[in-house]
Amino acid sequence: MSFEGRAAIVTGAARGIGRAICLELARQGCNVAFNYARSAGHAESLSSEIAALGREAIRFQLDVADYTAVEGMVKEVGRQFGRIDHLVNNAGIVRDKLILRMSEGDWDEVLNTNLKGAFNFSKAAIAVMLKARFGSILNISSISGVVGMAGQANYSASKAGMIGLTKALAKEVASRNITVNALALGLIATDMTRSLSDDYRQSMLDTIPLKRFGTPEEVGRIAAFLLSDDARYITGQVIQADGGLAP
Ligand code: NAP
Repeated sequence: MSFEGRAAIVTGAARGIGRAICLELARQGCNVAFNYARSAGHAESLSSEIAALGREAIRFQLDVADYTAVEGMVKEVGRQFGRIDHLVNNAGIVRDKLILRMSEGDWDEVLNTNLKGAFNFSKAAIAVMLKARFGSILNISSISGVVGMAGQANYSASKAGMIGLTKALAKEVASRNITVNALALGLIATDMTRSLSDDYRQSMLDTIPLKRFGTPEEVGRIAAFLLSDDARYITGQVIQADGGLAP
């Protein structure tokens, strides 16, 4: 198994894509620490599923935008697992509105969760990786950050920001054998997309060349590859997994 004896942190993982990434990494031998905002029940059941795969799980309820809390989590993971080999910055939210109706709060909440959260975890975890001269970081971005989507100025900006963070950090840490990549996703079937109206969902399906949404499990396998030793010559890249939607 590619991740035997390794340890990963996955943010925002009680539900959806983060959960699927945790389970795929555990299936491939990795111990996993993850955090969530509110879904304590889902988080507890994820810990049990990871344990059933024979791996260790540690869970934390914290806001990724809170640097002090993030630093505390990373320290505790380092203490309990003795290493941090992989980081997935996955926690994310949408507050979709046209910019005229978008409040300052809508902007701040999305940027603080999606972009500052990724900065917080990268900053806290990179020290451990630099010392070990080994690591891989994957930032879960979106095609919304690549092409821009109407009604998502805050979200598109946050996801484009994650791409800039990816490219800059990749250059900073490459000499220490740490890779940093971004996965720009199209529409994936999770709670985030379940809330879309039927009309919007159908109009998106019509424009996706593969004519379907992706599944969290598919994303889990792609993410595991990008974090794995098979992908160690890939860094600073934005990989699109969107059914052909974006150019
Ligand atoms: P989801 O089903 O809504 O799950 C989001 C997860 O993030 C939840 O576990 C949530 O915790 C956690 N979270 C949210 N805010 C947080 C905060 N401030 N601190 C800590 N955890 C927080 O979303 P998803 O569809 O799996 O999306 C995962 C990532 O993929 C996001 O970054 C999203 O932007 C990106 N993405 C998704 C799609 C898609 O079509 N689904 C497309 C492109 C990119 P609770 O469960 O406790 O609320």
